[in-house]
Amino acid sequence: SEEKSLNFLEQIIEDDLTNGLPQSKLRFRFPPEPNGYLHIGHASSIALNFGLGESYNAPVNLRFDDTNPEKEEQEFVDSIKKDVEWLGYSWAEERYASDYFQQLYDWTVELIKKGKAYVDSQSSEEIAEQKGTPTQPGIAGPYRDRSVAENLDLFERMKNGEFPDGAHIVRAKIDMTSPNMLMRDPLMYRIMHKHHHRTGDDWCIYPMYDWAHGESDYLEQISHSLCTLEFLPHRELYDWFLDQIFDDKKVRPKQREFARRNLSHTVVSKRKLLKLVTENFVSGWDDPRMSTISGMRRRGYTAASLRNFANTIGIAKRDNLINVSLLEFCIREDLNKIAPRVMAVIDPVKLIITNYPEGKEEWLEAENNPEDENAGFRKVPFSREIYIEREDFMEEAPAKFFRLSIGKEVRLKNGYIIQGEAVVKDSDGNTTEIHATYDPESLSGSGTEASQRKVAGTLHWVSSAHALPAEVRLYDRLFTDESPDTHKGKDFLDFVNPDSLKVVHAFVEPSLKSAVNEDKFQFQRIGYFTVDKDSTADKLVFNKTVGLKDAWEE
Ligand code: ATP
Ligand code: MG
Ligand code: MG
Repeated sequence: SEEKSLNFLEQIIEDDLTNGLPQSKLRFRFPPEPNGYLHIGHASSIALNFGLGESYNAPVNLRFDDTNPEKEEQEFVDSIKKDVEWLGYSWAEERYASDYFQQLYDWTVELIKKGKAYVDSQSSEEIAEQKGTPTQPGIAGPYRDRSVAENLDLFERMKNGEFPDGAHIVRAKIDMTSPNMLMRDPLMYRIMHKHHHRTGDDWCIYPMYDWAHGESDYLEQISHSLCTLEFLPHRELYDWFLDQIFDDKKVRPKQREFARRNLSHTVVSKRKLLKLVTENFVSGWDDPRMSTISGMRRRGYTAASLRNFANTIGIAKRDNLINVSLLEFCIREDLNKIAPRVMAVIDPVKLIITNYPEGKEEWLEAENNPEDENAGFRKVPFSREIYIEREDFMEEAPAKFFRLSIGKEVRLKNGYIIQGEAVVKDSDGNTTEIHATYDPESLSGSGTEASQRKVAGTLHWVSSAHALPAEVRLYDRLFTDESPDTHKGKDFLDFVNPDSLKVVHAFVEPSLKSAVNEDKFQFQRIGYFTVDKDSTADKLVFNKTVGLKDAWEE
């Protein structure tokens, strides 16, 4: 049928609506922990949650899961907000798990009073020993049956800062023999004398993810709490915690799981990305080789291309690896439509047109973007000395070489047909200058018979007197392996590609003089490039976003 088929999460939502949940009660959230920058995997979760918000006209909160002050920072909060906005989504409310610290504390007091939580004062090793194994039940520790009064007293004193880190914890009292290890009296609170980026030093006890997440969903009345598959075994605990506080006049949040998205030739884990930063494999979180949203933005990816990528791969029930070539396809497709075409020579060699008058210059008309009829035209300067790409010339070329060689003709893009005449070399045999002649009647678009003449190839070029020098950063994959973090006994860092960045000195046409950060261009016959944040009026810097699939033909 014409209708887009529903994915399995949409199907769950549809069933809930059929079973009486009013559509006006639908509510979603995207819940990042502010312990790093968002990466391309997060884009999937963002597109999923905000996409559901759009489909069902439902609010979507941005919830910071900020329960671990050891790793969380305001810098990460700011970058996450920027990235979600840049992707083109707007959240209903900005919330923080830390907004609920007092409520979570109060609920814990209630649980203690009901005998459903207790303070354990053993070492973590002792606690781990009593937990059992997946095939062996756990056993109760000596504090499991502490009196309510003693538990309340200790919990309050934990909160008041009377104990050092690790002296006590609070555990839910569930079932030490449960087949689900997570149900064997899980941790609810730990003591951490750490400054929190929002609550400062108000608290020295912090709730665990499992205790905070579902209750935060409940407080925000999130109807569907969508998370990745590793939380599947946590669902039972999520539900148990909700059971303790649930008021049946309210919406009961539902946790449902989908597969993490992995991208080939990179890592999508904040912890691993942080390592690349701190160990200086890259220049920062926004290094253009990173799988972070900010790195990809700096690399020249558009928000539309990332949204399109996320929606194209959709969601799945099972983990799988998405090839980075699909992402590259999405960005090419978008940039092909929007990026102005310009000429840039990234490995320049000088070419002199010996029969072109010295001192003469012409401004030739060039089409900005054949894919966009509103993009118009610009003028590019032409003169006796130009730069062409070193690889576009061979002194003696095989028959299939459709570029310049001695005695053969090519067209200069937007310009004339030239013929190779001679080559000047240095003492090592490297070409330093090429001499050619041009056919003055052959100017593109001039309507003459010579202008219609078909020659084997078309080259890009820049006039050397008018060209602007530019630094061009060429990127290759950051990892040489398709899934660098899946090899037993090997560290993902072992697969870092030592040649992932190559800096070259190029010449670009003068129309790029006023290009600013994040402007995007197609360097004709080479690929798509964007202006880097390091670029200045005196020194242009470009990042290569992605190569062209095929070199164009005129
Ligand atoms: P990381 O290991 O990179 O820190 P995380 O899951 O711990 O990932 P969170 O900040 O907790 O990071 O993630 C916010 C949301 O994004 C969660 O719902 C999480 O499940 C989802 N998410 C994270 N990584 C991916 C991924 N690779 N694919 C799909 N969703 C993801
Ligand atoms: Mg997480
Ligand atoms: Mg994490």
